[in-house]
Amino acid sequence: MPSGRFKKVLIANRGEIAVRVISACKELGIQTVAVYSEADRYSSHVRFADQALCIGPAKSARSYLDQPSIISAAEITNVDAIHPGYGFLSENAGFAQVCETSGIKFIGPKPEVIRLTGVKEQARAFMRKMGVPTLPGSEGVLQNPDEALELAGQIGYPVILKASAGGGGRGMRVVDGAADLPGLFTQAQQEAGAAFSTPDVYLEKYIRAPRHIEFQVLADEHGQVEVLPERECSIQRRHQKLVEESPSPAMNDRLRGEMAAALKKAMATAGYTNAGTVEFLMDEQGKLYFIEMNARVQVEHPVTEFVTGIDIVKAQIRIAQGERLGDILRGPVEVRGHALECRINAENPETFAPSAGRITGFHMPGGMGVRVDTWVYTDCVIPPFYDSLVAKLVTHGVDRAEAIRRMNRALDMFIIEGIHTSIPLHRRILAHPDFQAGRLDTGFIGRMLSPEKAAIPA
Ligand code: ADP
Repeated sequence: MPSGRFKKVLIANRGEIAVRVISACKELGIQTVAVYSEADRYSSHVRFADQALCIGPAKSARSYLDQPSIISAAEITNVDAIHPGYGFLSENAGFAQVCETSGIKFIGPKPEVIRLTGVKEQARAFMRKMGVPTLPGSEGVLQNPDEALELAGQIGYPVILKASAGGGGRGMRVVDGAADLPGLFTQAQQEAGAAFSTPDVYLEKYIRAPRHIEFQVLADEHGQVEVLPERECSIQRRHQKLVEESPSPAMNDRLRGEMAAALKKAMATAGYTNAGTVEFLMDEQGKLYFIEMNARVQVEHPVTEFVTGIDIVKAQIRIAQGERLGDILRGPVEVRGHALECRINAENPETFAPSAGRITGFHMPGGMGVRVDTWVYTDCVIPPFYDSLVAKLVTHGVDRAEAIRRMNRALDMFIIEGIHTSIPLHRRILAHPDFQAGRLDTGFIGRMLSPEKAAIPA
């Protein structure tokens, strides 16, 4: 395993996060290697990296998920480390292991820790053992619908079935009563089996219209753990985040301090290293319950960067180089102002149907407190094979009201022609009185788009 400063890093990803990692490497004086599929030949990550290698056809399974191709690319270009971004191989413990055995540093936690966090019901059990509150639910994987029925009867409906290896909101089913459970159990298993390596599902109590609140963790390889201020990601469609912010309007210093202390202990016990996010749901009483841990950088990390001034991706790389958190953070973490992020997706703003195609006109907003993380440009083609995220628009203000006003004007100045995007949806969200008042929950989008079904969360 190479130690000390990296000379060259391969980015095993595409899109805006590949560009984000390349930016961090450039600022650290590290050479970069991009890998790309045939569909991404003209992507900006290919252009901005010092070297680029085509690793296969458009289909992710044969390119961005093809471990032998990526490892070969890393060996040919003689890199010291691989940054996996998010999605793709970022939480694949086997890949982290292969990197390690190939003498390439994986920029992320150790394989055994990724394994623990990746099996959601095991991560739940671990957190419970550490005294971090979890929702009532199954101890492990459910063997059959009868077991699920018995447990749901004890906990009380509604309950939610979730994929053990879940991500991106897939393999989840909300169950309102016993009659629906057997059918939904089969559906959840099938969807989990198709999307992930295993059809395993577990169950937990379903909270109607909770807030989604998460904590960014940074941990070095010398035992120091830091818990950064929270992000709120309650504005979601289909259990996927659309708007994120930091700090959360629902958080107070006492709860923030308690959570930081509990998570510091849990992360240290787990031997967690590098960056990660611990996700919670908050009920109407303001109580937080752990739902899952993501052992990678999150899409929404820029809101934390704006309010803390910490470059999370550079921190990841420096931690992987063996540097100490004390040297990276240089002093206590403080929250300054408020930050918002809107995910600009290539999709129909009402039906959420993907909208691939050529961008015929493109103009990015800028100015004070505005950041755009993107990989697109005029005349580029959004391929239909991958995630629909085209850009992240992030604003920072002295307070929440200023961050919202700045986001409004930035959305007005963001021009993307030729495809549908979520920009009109973001304008509606920001104009909504509940959003402006900070009254957020995961049912917000469902109510906004179909007020007649206001009682049913999205
Ligand atoms: P994934 O890994 O697929 O993203 P998560 O466990 O992170 O799944 O949950 C994603 C979202 O699904 C949450 O932010 C929340 O909106 C909803 N959700 C998950 N578990 C529950 C629950 N027990 N009660 C209510 N909503 C839930």
